[in-house]
Amino acid sequence: MMDSMERATDPEPAHPSGLLEAAVNNLALGLMIYDGNDELVFCNKRYMEIYGLAPEQVRPGTPIKKLIQHRLNLGLKAPSKPDEDIRDLIGSGVVRGTAVQEFADGRIIAFTIYPMPGGGGMATHEDITAREQMSARLKRQLEVGREQEEDLRIRHLQFDTAINNMSQGLCFFDAAHRLIVCNDRYVDMYDLPHDRVGPGTPLAEIVDLRYAAGSFPAMSTEEYLRWRNNVAISAEPTDSIVELKNGRTFKIRHRPMPDGGWVATHEDITEQRRSEVKIEYMAHHDALTDLANRVLLNERLEHALGRRIHREEMVAVHHLDLDQFKAVNDTFGHPAGDKLLKIVADRLRGLVRETDTIARMGGDEFVVVQAPIRDPAEATALAQHIIALMSEPFELDGHQAVIGASIGIAVGPGDGLRPDRLLRNADLALYRAKGDGRGTFRFFEPAMDLQMQTRRVMEQDLRKALPAGEFELYYQPVVNLASNEISGFEALIRWNHPKQGLVAPATFIPLAEEIGFIVPIGEWVIRQACATAAKWPANLRVAVNISAVQFRNPGLMQVIVGALAISGLHPTRLEIEITETVLLHNKEATLAVLHQLRALGIRIAMDDFGTGYSSLTYLQCFPFDKIKIDRSFVKDITENAGSLNIVRAVAALANGMGMTATAEGVETSEQLDRIASEGCAEMQGFLFSRPLPAHEIERLFLSGREPRSDLGRIVAA
Ligand code: C2E
Ligand code: MG
Ligand code: MG
Repeated sequence: MMDSMERATDPEPAHPSGLLEAAVNNLALGLMIYDGNDELVFCNKRYMEIYGLAPEQVRPGTPIKKLIQHRLNLGLKAPSKPDEDIRDLIGSGVVRGTAVQEFADGRIIAFTIYPMPGGGGMATHEDITAREQMSARLKRQLEVGREQEEDLRIRHLQFDTAINNMSQGLCFFDAAHRLIVCNDRYVDMYDLPHDRVGPGTPLAEIVDLRYAAGSFPAMSTEEYLRWRNNVAISAEPTDSIVELKNGRTFKIRHRPMPDGGWVATHEDITEQRRSEVKIEYMAHHDALTDLANRVLLNERLEHALGRRIHREEMVAVHHLDLDQFKAVNDTFGHPAGDKLLKIVADRLRGLVRETDTIARMGGDEFVVVQAPIRDPAEATALAQHIIALMSEPFELDGHQAVIGASIGIAVGPGDGLRPDRLLRNADLALYRAKGDGRGTFRFFEPAMDLQMQTRRVMEQDLRKALPAGEFELYYQPVVNLASNEISGFEALIRWNHPKQGLVAPATFIPLAEEIGFIVPIGEWVIRQACATAAKWPANLRVAVNISAVQFRNPGLMQVIVGALAISGLHPTRLEIEITETVLLHNKEATLAVLHQLRALGIRIAMDDFGTGYSSLTYLQCFPFDKIKIDRSFVKDITENAGSLNIVRAVAALANGMGMTATAEGVETSEQLDRIASEGCAEMQGFLFSRPLPAHEIERLFLSGREPRSDLGRIVAA
């Protein structure tokens, strides 16, 4: 309105064509008109502004070609051949159309050509740089927006994939205890309906759904919510382990968020828990029998000793060892042995109370802790029951095995306040029970402790004795009663102990056998005896005692043959004395060795005849050269008719079977008369001579001549 007012006051005359020109010049569009010769007829000011044209450059009649050249000069971006471009642009004047020109300075100018029917035409030119920039920006923004949207979508997808592929359940709750988000795992873990749980679901509702599904601890929903609220309110990170009624165990990690909400992960640790429980069980139990192992036994024993409520309450520890278990293993095989151990465990379970503990200590050793007891008689009763039950036959896959059990008992607190003490003392008592013939029980006594100590010291001394040369062989003459001549000597070992003096074999041989030390000692005895005897007149024999442990050693044959070879002693001059215990184990293998020895010409004697259980049986299985009737029968032969009968029977048996009957331990002339009249061919005993060192033997019986013949005088002396 103001514009028109101003123009109204324009000093120029209001000429109609002037008005039109003013209007045309004020147009925002550049305008140009050209004729049929492609020469400019008219252009407005805006056109001149757009292309920076001076009035003389736009005089009517200016060829359009020139104007276009001007534009190219301005930096119009045109294809490489400007001439063609110009021709095109002119040519395009024939048809109506719009084109866009871009200039090097960034301007964009659009033009539209309106051809006229008689040739020539009009063109409008518009600077659209700003508009184009705007739309380009808009377009770019649109693209960025689209990219961001895509980005977000991808991130959403990633988050979704991530949380739904977690092995743990995950949930976010807001401060109002409403679910923000949770993953599928969470919904599945708690057996929740998928359509009922989503963003906005209140915690209380989820709790109700869980309660219904059974994925809930053993408590009411109110109790649970109270606990959950406390956790939520505490604003402290909390880890808890929750056992559900459906048998699963979950570990829940609660982490508060600054706005009052929280995030929680839920991990199913049921399997982990189960294997932990299993490992824990295995660490405390014996795999074969399912009984407690040493570890658990110690714990239980400690507990039992610690929780004695009344002063008079006691704890009994029974240390139990199966007799003959090794034989079962050897005869029927290890699977049968295992089965037997399982049956033993079952039998023991049947004998004890809830408060007692049975443990397997390994091998065939068991411990029963009887706690509490008020009287040691209760321990006696249990031990008797155990022994009775263990001696009942065991059915092992078609075989029947009979074993037994020995038990050592220690009673706390008297025999020890600590588990290790009680176990050790029960072990000492067991040692005694086994020594006393097995199949029995013994209570611990302080004296056993002392004995054990002595034994330990002796063991140490014994190991040093051989290299220290502390052993010596004594020889006891064996007299032939018919000829009244010495037929040979029995080698008997002595230990010249540096502190204790001369130690008899009964003291250390059993220990040496137990620790296997009898093997090197025995080797020394054989070599020594052969070497000594080789110096005697050729008609004298030497007898050597060989124990069962030596027979179990595969090197025995080698040792004997070696000793004979080195000494040059003829095999027929060597006699081996064995007791029936040698034939108790591994009878076949032992018999084979005996036959080999016999084949070499070595004589074999059965020693201590009559003291074992089945001496007669063993006589049948090997053709012994000699039977040595045990001293115990000779001792009371003059008073006891039983002993006399035995000596008579054995002598008769020996004579009948072509064996020599030798009476051991003849101390009196009455005994000598008796054994002689009952048919014994030989005697050995203090009456004739005690065992003596080799040089004494030499001096007394062998010095400077062939064997003495006037032995009757010596016997009578
Ligand atoms: P043994 O083979 O039966 O030996 C006979 C034992 O009776 C010897 O005891 C001997 O001293 C003793 N004795 C002999 N005559 C009489 C007598 O008139 N009265 C009494 N009271 N005793 C008499 P020693 O030497 O103490 O040997 C005991 C056992 O030790 C032997 O019994 C034998 O089984 C074992 N032994 C001895 N030396 C050896 C050895 O070198 N190796 C092995 N493995 N065992 C041996
Ligand atoms: Mg002997
Ligand atoms: Mg004997």
